[in-house]
Amino acid sequence: MTIKLNQPLKPDLEKLTHYLKQINDSGWYTNFGPLHQQLTKRLEEYLGVKNLLLVSNGTLAIQVACKVLNINSAITTPFSFVATTSSLLWQGIETAFSDISSKSYNLCPTALDKALSESEISYDGIVATHVYGNPCDVNSIAAVANKHNKKVIYDAAHAFSVNVEGQSVLNFGDASTLSFHATKVFHTVEGGAIVFKHSEDYEKAKRLINFGIQADGSLGEPGINAKLNEYQCAVGLTLLDDIEKVIAHRAQLFHCYRDELQGVVEMPTWHKDTTSNGAYMPIYLADVNRQEKVIEALANNGIDSRRYFTPSLDVAYKNQKSFGCEQSQKIAAGVICLPLHAYMSIDNVAYISKIIRKVVK
Ligand SMILES: *Cc1c(COP(=O)(O)O)cnc(C)c1O
Repeated sequence: MTIKLNQPLKPDLEKLTHYLKQINDSGWYTNFGPLHQQLTKRLEEYLGVKNLLLVSNGTLAIQVACKVLNINSAITTPFSFVATTSSLLWQGIETAFSDISSKSYNLCPTALDKALSESEISYDGIVATHVYGNPCDVNSIAAVANKHNKKVIYDAAHAFSVNVEGQSVLNFGDASTLSFHATKVFHTVEGGAIVFKHSEDYEKAKRLINFGIQADGSLGEPGINAKLNEYQCAVGLTLLDDIEKVIAHRAQLFHCYRDELQGVVEMPTWHKDTTSNGAYMPIYLADVNRQEKVIEALANNGIDSRRYFTPSLDVAYKNQKSFGCEQSQKIAAGVICLPLHAYMSIDNVAYISKIIRKVVK
């Protein structure tokens, strides 16, 4: 038996072909076409959000959000997928790192407040990740942002369909970004979206991702091309039909893992008032020897695992300012992600957990 770390959702080919035929019939392949409109509407309804703009990937989603919100300098988390930081650096945004909480692995509001108070530079914004789909302490981050008058962007690439305090996690901050890369919970092969708090920001972003061309055809501020095309929307529409079932199943696998491994390994503490989308299954082992033994024992049984996310991004980009990221470096040195995807069973989870329990004991 082999169990992969992740397996992209496979779209039903009959349904997909039905959409592709529609594209041929309309002759509309990209530039906010009919399928783009359908997917936007269905995602807004499903996620419980407004002002959702589809874009061509999650990296451009962060860059366009920063552009629209005039963020030219930012404090960000060191514990995330590399794109959270690399997207900022590529855009020439002055970037600094503030530490995470060793419990949630998300940006620590207390450390953030301290960093913003101490800093000689006045940063324009905060870029935080809901890492592994576990919501940040959104209320405390909002309080810190208000106190220091900062914009907030959430990289919500892991948090598709996650609710916090009874509403979509995407409704917090000035903007939240999603990735619809094939490896994510929901995908369009490559793709993404931005959810804006304010409709003016949404309108501006919609022009900017189409070269900056205005509604009347005149040229405004220079833009970029970050549109999602109709073929990608066809994949999204096809997969969206079953997404509720997929996420329920993934969440069940996630909770099963957490029960099986409780007291065996350390795990991040999840937000108290949230729903889970089963995007990732991270565990933490402080001891390097044990980490290696777990990875090896899993590999010997055909099971993939990955050290993820490592290195801590303040280490990877050590020329950038850091306000001290000890916790992030500690977590990055011991975190391992276990297989979690829609094509796994509860039995798979029990089997993997048994192997880990045997090694760690
Ligand atoms: C996947 C991911 C991205 C980048 O998304 P792409 O669509 O691959 O560009 C950004 N941030 C996080 C946290 C991610 O996991």
